[in-house]
Amino acid sequence: MPVMDGADRREVVVRRSARRRQTVSAYRDGDRVVVLIPARFSATEEQRWVADMLRRLEAQDSRRRRGRPGTDVDLAARATRLSESYLEGRARPASVRWVTNQQRRWGSCTPRDSTIRLSGRLRDMPPYVVDYVLVHELAHLLVPGHGEQFWEWVRRYPSAERARGYLEGVEAAAGLALDEDCDDPVAGAVEAAR
Ligand SMILES: [Zn+2]
Repeated sequence: MPVMDGADRREVVVRRSARRRQTVSAYRDGDRVVVLIPARFSATEEQRWVADMLRRLEAQDSRRRRGRPGTDVDLAARATRLSESYLEGRARPASVRWVTNQQRRWGSCTPRDSTIRLSGRLRDMPPYVVDYVLVHELAHLLVPGHGEQFWEWVRRYPSAERARGYLEGVEAAAGLALDEDCDDPVAGAVEAAR
């Protein structure tokens, strides 16, 4: 029977299963939350478990949200931290922001005015991937193009290779060919923002 969760009016569907003996589980199905419980549960038990599972899902969501920079302010703070940790604080962007009009680049930078933009498509990716793209663009403020000196800076970020692999996987799956990420005309590099 569908019931509404008081907190955010989410629809909750409870499914009883005769095969289930002890375990309760819950998952999202679009806007709904489906809670699976053993058939033998009483109405009181059902209520208690549904409330408990909704709390757990909510906690999981907020843990996930916390791992990601949501706003431009978060992003700028993250960039500052990453610059300090891996680039000796030398990269000091004038602005860092999320953009939605960037389909063929994960990130981009304009060294002339020290601005960095990140594609909103990264928002759903793991935090280490977002951090990698930030470090990549920050490093372009120090070294234009994708030469050895550039990668020396980027590799200081420990998850750089892992993140590049992740993005390559996404690009391959989507059949994407990415554009150059750095606007600097002297860069002369052909490799995209990986
Ligand atoms: Zn680049």
